[in-house]
Amino acid sequence: MTDTAYPAAPLSAAPTTTRPRTYEVKTYGCQMNVHDSERISGMLDTAGYVPAEAGTDPDLVVFNTCAVRENADNRLYGNLGHLAKVKEANPDFQIAVGGCMAQKDRDVIVQRAPWVDVVFGTHNMGSLPTLLERARHNREAQVEILESLEVFPSTLPTTRDSTHSAWVSISVGCNNTCTFCIVPSLRGKEKDRRPGDILAEVEALAAEGVVEVTLLGQNVNSYGAEFRDRGAFAKLLRAVGQVPGIRRVRFTSPHPAMFTDDVIEAMADTPTVMPQLHMPLQSGSDRILKSMRRSYRSSRFLGILEKVRERMPEAAITTDIIVGFPGETEEDFRATLDLVERARFSQAFTFQYSVRPGTPAATMKNQIPKEIVQERFERLVALQDSIAHEENRKLIGTEVEVLVTKVPADGRLSGRAADNRLVHVAADPSVGTVRPGDMVRTTVTEAKPYFLIADAPLTLERTVAGDAWDRAQAESCGTGSGTARPSGPTSLGMPTMPVRSDR
Ligand code: SF4
Repeated sequence: MTDTAYPAAPLSAAPTTTRPRTYEVKTYGCQMNVHDSERISGMLDTAGYVPAEAGTDPDLVVFNTCAVRENADNRLYGNLGHLAKVKEANPDFQIAVGGCMAQKDRDVIVQRAPWVDVVFGTHNMGSLPTLLERARHNREAQVEILESLEVFPSTLPTTRDSTHSAWVSISVGCNNTCTFCIVPSLRGKEKDRRPGDILAEVEALAAEGVVEVTLLGQNVNSYGAEFRDRGAFAKLLRAVGQVPGIRRVRFTSPHPAMFTDDVIEAMADTPTVMPQLHMPLQSGSDRILKSMRRSYRSSRFLGILEKVRERMPEAAITTDIIVGFPGETEEDFRATLDLVERARFSQAFTFQYSVRPGTPAATMKNQIPKEIVQERFERLVALQDSIAHEENRKLIGTEVEVLVTKVPADGRLSGRAADNRLVHVAADPSVGTVRPGDMVRTTVTEAKPYFLIADAPLTLERTVAGDAWDRAQAESCGTGSGTARPSGPTSLGMPTMPVRSDR
């Protein structure tokens, strides 16, 4: 563990008012970070902070950073630079930096931006309120980074972004060594949470009105490796799918190398596990997959898709693809285009390869010039968009059940179909007030590459999730059934469960 106090941070000072301090959490990166930010909010709420109203200046800004995306450093230091003046004008104002960049850069952050008050890592989010307090009291920047996880993060209080849908961590860290990825060095080896703890959390969420859960791990297929149960993920899917009140179960992300048939069977057999799969491809070239140290080949990837579609013909399959990995030739890239043609993804998250310091790929020879990467990227996006559009058009005239996520004051409602496609639904005042969390059934009338439109009659099912949204809104502003967006409730975290360190 690094735990450093810097004499810098000259601008930190004790608060001069007794009103609750307000905060804003700025999140970058993946779903892991989104969920971690819910925990950061939960801890701050529990410590007496309150979220800053939109349009007001917070007393505390927390950056939950990502080291995976391109230019993460520039972005962070640019943002910190903008806040230097705010800090100078208001010594009570505090800045905290957490997440993967903090874990990676640690002391460097307060050297480059000495007006930062707290730097905390991915393994010790729970320390944030204490570190903020200590920074104020000591008038010194606090840097605390743990090298490994001591307590599974689900034991921390969490303020969910949504009343109807929740992330549930099943594991953290990753045992793989993909050459483009910084995750293993920042998040450590995979730690699996016990199935009983996961089920207890899902049951507690259902009791609060949550109807949709997404099981979260860097590599969900290897769940159970730590307690030596190869079938653990399939069993978990079946068990979570049976929790009363939970109507939609999703998961992210699986790894093609470890994707086993029992998971496909569990998906197909469990009605609440949604017909949707997000499975990262990264490249369609076996040569590049090898260089990426992704231990599957394109034929295996396509084989999994075939089996999934055999059992769930309606499944929507999405993926991640990196373009321009070091050494990628035109022939390699064409292999990716070819696989994309065959796979018929409903959506692909496409990334241009960029050097991520600290990863093996960063020092590989044959880095691809930016203009070539850009040109390939545009070809891939054009192909994928046309495929997504074609696939979406096939759905015109079909009925969809949409979990409503957004209810604007005017215009269409938005939500997700069972296969996770985004659907914009024409509002129909005759059915009554629709709340986020309610379900509507309607018919697809139009298709775009990235979403569906349903301008057709609808039927409304008012759900416990909609009731939960009403309650949350009533608590936040005393009204209910309006259009403002309250956050979900703060749970106090699951019973403390130390992470096993013996394996
Ligand atoms: S599977 Fe590969 S890309 Fe995914 S988190 Fe692990 S090392 Fe990174």
